[in-house]
Amino acid sequence: MSQLMDALVKPAPGKGLELRQVPIPEPGPGQVLIKVHKTAICGTDVHIYNWDPWAVEHIRPPMVIGHEYVGEIAAAGAGVTGLRVGRRVSGEGHITCGHCRNCHTGNIQWCKDTQSVGVDRDGAFAEYVCIPESNVILIDPNLPEDVVAFFDAVGNAAHTALMWNLVGEDVLITGAGPIGIIAAGICKYAGARRVVVTDINDYRLELAKKMGADAAVNTQREDLHEIMHKQRLVEGFDIGLEMSGSGAALTQMISAMRNGGKISLLGISNKPVPMDMNSIICKGLTLQGIYGRKLDNWHQMSYMVQGGLDLTPVITHRFHYTQFEEGFAAMNSGKSGKVILDWTKQEGLS
Ligand code: NAD
Ligand code: ZN
Repeated sequence: MSQLMDALVKPAPGKGLELRQVPIPEPGPGQVLIKVHKTAICGTDVHIYNWDPWAVEHIRPPMVIGHEYVGEIAAAGAGVTGLRVGRRVSGEGHITCGHCRNCHTGNIQWCKDTQSVGVDRDGAFAEYVCIPESNVILIDPNLPEDVVAFFDAVGNAAHTALMWNLVGEDVLITGAGPIGIIAAGICKYAGARRVVVTDINDYRLELAKKMGADAAVNTQREDLHEIMHKQRLVEGFDIGLEMSGSGAALTQMISAMRNGGKISLLGISNKPVPMDMNSIICKGLTLQGIYGRKLDNWHQMSYMVQGGLDLTPVITHRFHYTQFEEGFAAMNSGKSGKVILDWTKQEGLS
């Protein structure tokens, strides 16, 4: 009989998760077993915990959830070469077909047959996770594990922000969720002149300021155009990063862009969003949808952190995995940035 490990499992349709023992996965040919050190909770995990309509449609319990993690290689299956046991690693969470046109051109983020770790197959909120060798990302052991634990989300932010040349540009980020906050730090690091972040949640706007945003605007109380004037924006924003999934935020963004501006759209809405087509046309705006990460984003993130990008301001909570309920409560409260779960230490030790 196989050995057992602790894992956070969605046991059956319905709210919540269960900490239970499940078999340690066996790495098959071409697969790598990773011993998980730290994980981070993503908005997707919260959808699954809360069992909202998205989760009902996408999740087939029982399964282990989670896809943001850092760990070390514990074992390798037949045919795996070049990956040593003990190497610090994370993993690209989208497992792609390798055969479609986008996979063949290196655009794995657009693979037509993507499977997601922790959504379509067992995930990383466990002592061990098993993924294909091609999804393993080697990590410099000098990088802080608390930050690498959420590199998956940093990759979304980097993909969205670095789609455009940011040097000297004025950037509007709508949505100060963890990804919007991280994106603010990346934009400043990459040379943006002004970075303005909007949200309707003051706690999160404060985190965006700590991450280096020049202005953090609560659009329920404050007038964005007044803030633009104070920040000496004359013609509007050059670059827009939509990271809220809110139609109202997108409408506001379109109205605040300069002619010829560029927008990347990351935020996902739970309903169709009406768009001001005439402004997009008359202003000559470029809109780019962003899904997942490019593999190169993993390299960019490591290099930016090595170069001095400090992402720790977005971390607001740290728990042992046995305290996962507190972690999910923090995420559900709206008063959180990234929540880290530690899978190495014994409970009570810090
Ligand atoms: P999040 O839900 O934690 O943050 C969204 C933020 O938007 C919240 O703080 C919310 O208060 C704010 N918001 C709501 N209405 C607003 C408005 N009118 N104006 C400004 N802000 C408003 O999400 P996150 O984890 O930071 O992720 C950001 C978005 O990206 C989410 O929509 C998520 O679903 C999406 N996402 C997409 C991908 C992808 O591959 N495209 C990957 C990860 C996340
Ligand atoms: Zn493919």
